[in-house]
Amino acid sequence: MTTETMIASDELFIGGEWIKPQGSGRISVLAASTEEPVGSVPDGTNADIDAAVAAARAAFDDPSGWSSWSIEDRAQALERLAGALESRGEETARRVSLQNGMPISLSLQIEAVFPAVLARYYAGLIRQTALLEDRAGLLGGTIHVLRKPVGVVGAIVPWNYPQTLAMFKLAPLLAAGCTVVMKPSPETVLDSLLLAEAILEAELPAGVVNLVPAGREVGAYLVEHPDVDKIAFTGSSASGRMIARRCGELLRPVTLELGGKSAAIVLDDADLAGATEALFAATLMNNGQTCNIGTRVLAPRSRYDEVLEVFGGLADALVVGDSLDPATQIGPMASARQRERVEGYIEKGRAEGGRVVAGGGRPPELDRGWFVQPTIFADVDNGDTIAREEIFGPVLAVIPYDGVDDAVAIANDSEFGLGGSVWSRDIERANNVAKRVQTGSIGINHYMLDPAAPFGGVKASGLGRELGPEGLTAYLQLQSIYEAPPQAEPAP
Ligand code: NAD
Repeated sequence: MTTETMIASDELFIGGEWIKPQGSGRISVLAASTEEPVGSVPDGTNADIDAAVAAARAAFDDPSGWSSWSIEDRAQALERLAGALESRGEETARRVSLQNGMPISLSLQIEAVFPAVLARYYAGLIRQTALLEDRAGLLGGTIHVLRKPVGVVGAIVPWNYPQTLAMFKLAPLLAAGCTVVMKPSPETVLDSLLLAEAILEAELPAGVVNLVPAGREVGAYLVEHPDVDKIAFTGSSASGRMIARRCGELLRPVTLELGGKSAAIVLDDADLAGATEALFAATLMNNGQTCNIGTRVLAPRSRYDEVLEVFGGLADALVVGDSLDPATQIGPMASARQRERVEGYIEKGRAEGGRVVAGGGRPPELDRGWFVQPTIFADVDNGDTIAREEIFGPVLAVIPYDGVDDAVAIANDSEFGLGGSVWSRDIERANNVAKRVQTGSIGINHYMLDPAAPFGGVKASGLGRELGPEGLTAYLQLQSIYEAPPQAEPAP
């Protein structure tokens, strides 16, 4: 990579303008592939959250403000936002890859494109959503059932798909008429500057969207801020539990998109030779830093060696390198801490008797950047640590099973339930297996989430759903107005 021009900001995007932060701390970002500094932004403080929440509150409570705009006006604003995001798509993809190590070929497909797709999708959806329904009451009179925006949202997002996951929340909440304070993760703050620019260009009213990059303590402060009406969180199950506990005490609605340890179930009739690309995407996408991928590969004992060969061959053939190189298929981990965590799991996998059939260390030719080789473990038991805990790196555990019931039992023997996949030539059989897996979503011969389908987890993988019409419902609350029947005319 050539030397980067530093990307820096001295201000925060609050109340529709760039304003001086209240503190003096800064978040400095290093490039994942080179460990060189590439930019910095102010480190938001509790006082900045106060200012951002006040701006979001005022924007929401304004009687002629965003929440009172007509559906058509809000939909058009979302479409303007889509255009503004699209025109920054390539630079967004570049900044995301620079920071978190996502291969640029992937960020150009996802981070450059998906945010605008989501803005347009929810613009279309809100136009078709009835926000008022009149019902004849069973006991007489008329009932007006209103679907109203929940209010000021505190949105907290992780670093792995920072812009896409931000828009999982922003697009439906804006369509619903909510306002928001969003806290990007400290690992990926430089792309959030582009989001702020796009919000300005789309001419959303001041205070509707406010961005405060900061760490977890400031995130916790946002969660319990008295002027916030709902929390939407994406991140680890450990953080999610803490946030859920606090929201429980406050009786504050919360949506949680959390971690996973999903199963990729290879049935005995699967065509693996023709599925390499789809298998890669379903198990190793974004250097393994993807919540829904199948990091436990369940293989029929009769084909165990063959499945190992397929995954071992795939891992050995992947191009590992600088995340900005278009040829790269596996980039570095997002941070030194993340690489340490992944290497710790590889060590643990070996110590518990796992056999490394591919990778297992750092690529010897790359002496800078937080790289880990794509690593395949054989002889893993579903009770081993690397089969139970989320690693969030390019490490797969291949586990043998005996018969479909055993495969389903192993898949379901997990704390998590987020994604997964079933691989078979027989689509009906694969669907029947998929239905038995306790998970929020699952793919057949691929794993590809879609804006039109609800996405989320069961068990420790989360609460609630994003995407689809269900993702809009999460930002609407119901109100029933009981209207008395007209008084009978007094007899003349
Ligand atoms: P993390 O939980 O450490 O942090 C996520 C975000 O929450 C960051 O912005 C962080 O600053 C903030 N945060 C952390 N603790 C907080 C607290 N107590 N109160 C308020 N804010 C807090 O997770 P991470 O390491 O950044 O991200 C990786 C995790 O996210 C993985 O577990 C992954 O599976 C999960 N994830 C889930 C989904 C999904 O849709 N289910 C999508 C992407 C990532």
